[in-house]
Amino acid sequence: MQFRDLVKQYNVLKPDIDKAMIDTAASGGYIMGKAVKELEASLAEYVGVKHCISCANGTDALTLALKAWGIGAGDAVFVPDFTFFASAEVVSLEGATPVFVDIDEDTFNIDVNSLEKAIEKTIKEGKLVPKVIITVDLFGLPADYYAVKKIADKYNLLILEDGAQGFGGKTGERMACSLGDISTTSFFPAKPLGCYGDGGAVFTNNDEWATIMDSLRVHGKGSFKYDNVRIGMNSRLDTLQAAILQVKFEAFKSYEVEDINKAAALYTEKLKGIVKTPVIPEGYYSSWAQYTIQLKDKEQRDGLQAYLKEQGIPSMVYYPTPMHKQTAYKELNYPEESNPVTQRLCSTVLSLPIHPYITEEDIEKVCEFVVSYV
Ligand SMILES: *Cc1c(COP(=O)(O)O)cnc(C)c1O
Repeated sequence: MQFRDLVKQYNVLKPDIDKAMIDTAASGGYIMGKAVKELEASLAEYVGVKHCISCANGTDALTLALKAWGIGAGDAVFVPDFTFFASAEVVSLEGATPVFVDIDEDTFNIDVNSLEKAIEKTIKEGKLVPKVIITVDLFGLPADYYAVKKIADKYNLLILEDGAQGFGGKTGERMACSLGDISTTSFFPAKPLGCYGDGGAVFTNNDEWATIMDSLRVHGKGSFKYDNVRIGMNSRLDTLQAAILQVKFEAFKSYEVEDINKAAALYTEKLKGIVKTPVIPEGYYSSWAQYTIQLKDKEQRDGLQAYLKEQGIPSMVYYPTPMHKQTAYKELNYPEESNPVTQRLCSTVLSLPIHPYITEEDIEKVCEFVVSYV
């Protein structure tokens, strides 16, 4: 059994993907070809924002946003403590300081009480100026933007939505990747919408930021490529990846998101009452980048993972270490008892195999082993 079976997906989509790849090879337009512009337009329409600018990966997408806003030394950027390293790494790369915030134990997303406390504390200390809140749509579920927006407005902060895992999710009628002042996603193969290598995109309704990010991704270009008006990056999405994404995006829209939701519902039906299953709040829709259960303690979690492995079932711990405990952030000197929910979840979470092409039999098999172990 595969954790996320991308080869199975390829075999279903093979004729169209093969054609897209061969057509790109024959076209000669390998950089910023037609497929890139077309993909950007269709992604922007789907998400419901004015601008989509593709780039080389989801990490660069975050960097483009921070650069467009001029975030740098002396700025505080609030980041959930429970996320993939890149969410904070980009902040440090720009010379700003990430401030790690605890999460909600049901949704795995940023906890607004903890966020407000962190902002107040930062203001009181007076060393850093609060600028941005990075919300992460972890495991496919959009963060609580209504609550985050209230805090952002109160303290005059920008919201950067890290939708690397969130693409395809919804809150009410609003799509993930439309919820921040700037939003980002990743097309890393295992993400909800993945390509066959690295890729990413930024989304925004703001014309000025869109123009800056479009310039930044091509060496700070001005009116043309050899007119350079700012220090930028080389961060384009390959035409080949865009062509692959065009095919995959059709499947994503027409049945994949729906099918992965069915898979998640079946897991929840079978595991409810046995382990803590993921909570999707009323009015929210997840694109299920991960299906993550919570066990009683680390011993039970590690034991279950080892047991599943013996049965040939892959599972993953997303994430084993709070951001504030990463070696790279040692010098931030967080107190031992910081962000207790994140610390507990790092010891108790386990993500099970899920993807749009998983069979009911496979889900039943995984669940039987989970039930018998627990
Ligand atoms: C994957 C991921 C990223 C980075 O995306 P890449 O395309 O791998 O650079 C950023 N944030 C989160 C939450 C992610 O899961």
